[in-house]
Amino acid sequence: MRKGSKRFITLLAAIACSVLTYAQDADEQLLLKHFHSISSEEIAGWMAEICSPEFNGRLAGTPEYLAAADWVAGKMSEWGVKPAGNKGTYYQWFDHPYTVVNDQGALQLHLPQKDGKTVMKSYSAPSDYYPGMNSGSGEATAEVVWVGYGVTAPELNYDDYKGLDVRGKIVLMNRDVPYKDVRNPEYAKWVRYCYHQYKSENAAEHGAAGMLYIDGNSANPNISYLENLVVCGIGPEPLADIFAGLGKENKTLLEQIDKTFKPASFSTGKTMTVRANTTRHPEGRTCNVIGMIEGSDPVLKDEVIIIGGHLDAVGNAGGLLVAGGYDNASGIIDIMAAAKALSESGIKLKRTLLFLMIGAEETGLRGSKFYTKNPIFPKEKTVTYINLDMVGNGTGLAVSASATCSGLTDYFTRANDKYIHRPMRVSTSAGSFYGRPRSDGLVFLADGFRTMSISAPDGVKPVYYHLPGDDETAVTPEIMEDVAKLIYLSFIDMANAYTLNY
Ligand SMILES: [Zn+2]
Repeated sequence: MRKGSKRFITLLAAIACSVLTYAQDADEQLLLKHFHSISSEEIAGWMAEICSPEFNGRLAGTPEYLAAADWVAGKMSEWGVKPAGNKGTYYQWFDHPYTVVNDQGALQLHLPQKDGKTVMKSYSAPSDYYPGMNSGSGEATAEVVWVGYGVTAPELNYDDYKGLDVRGKIVLMNRDVPYKDVRNPEYAKWVRYCYHQYKSENAAEHGAAGMLYIDGNSANPNISYLENLVVCGIGPEPLADIFAGLGKENKTLLEQIDKTFKPASFSTGKTMTVRANTTRHPEGRTCNVIGMIEGSDPVLKDEVIIIGGHLDAVGNAGGLLVAGGYDNASGIIDIMAAAKALSESGIKLKRTLLFLMIGAEETGLRGSKFYTKNPIFPKEKTVTYINLDMVGNGTGLAVSASATCSGLTDYFTRANDKYIHRPMRVSTSAGSFYGRPRSDGLVFLADGFRTMSISAPDGVKPVYYHLPGDDETAVTPEIMEDVAKLIYLSFIDMANAYTLNY
């Protein structure tokens, strides 16, 4: 054979491979039938179910989270998606102590009067404060001491507690650290100090009895439980009241610290009462829920494409129920919708698909950390991990990929161009990140997995991040339908490609 014609045949083969997708590997009629079976009505129905009070905000560790896990597992079983967890079940278990908030506690400011009496100003939850979701149970009445970022970093010559005695006091602090550039390797020196858990532990180590956290005044179950530390998140009004008449401002003090790296802590002279009523469950266990569609090719079936999202939400703080509709029932329901269509279609897939409903994201990314240390399929055989977190509120689609698998975005672009026709943004990794990982995707990435995420930008509904408004009405089922369709199509394409173009 002449060299030229050999090259021509190679070229033909390459073209053939690239179009060996929907039409050939899967009968297009069959593909379209199940594509159209994905419906916003069914999605809306599941959203209402998973956000129902029965599951009580799906806090990891609680029996209600486990009921939600059973509900998802039951659906997968119904559709023929096989269990891929421990011992032939859908569940991958791990220890997870947790805290139940029994009531909304209290936050009060003591206002001394001229006649020597004290008037108490009581605040309301959730507008003024949010009960600490991992707070110790009890009450603290003491002077409030402002401790900036609440960081003690001797090796960085920075200590917000320097020269202060906060024993028995209530410390007031902000999230983050003075150093802000998360893309600069310098940030790595600071990262351990920006965890909420660290800040509460450091407060307790300094003997504080209470902690007021200026952290957005919403549910935050990601602090450490410390028996003798009563915690709550505070909003603008109590903060303004604490600073009233002091000639200082929280924001200005932080700006000054960020510039000089010199702490500016001080005693406010204000007395407050913070009360929490919680029950700790040290025996808690929770799980990831894992289903799979096994590949049909004797060799390629060992390769797995994972799509995941967190199933847990932030629970119910004494009547402040956060159903976690947008965050992240939307991701879970989209995975379910795609899993159902893929499984029921019966379309043969060469590679294996894994549906990973992650537990305990909100309490410190524990489910994804557990999976990456105990993967069901080896990392080297994992084509990619695709994360879905808050996908149900937008008019467009977005796919982003780590530098290690930017080529895989083509499968999504092609699916969208051919069948969905939404505006779609494609991006690849913006480079190194030294900050605190705030998504399961970043946990997988940090562990060396090729990682992607799908989202639905250009939201049209207000976002109630970790607040009671985040229920099933916080999403738009139409975009969720299209996200599920995008997953369905691109997974068939990726699972059946002879060679994957990373
Ligand atoms: Zn989330």
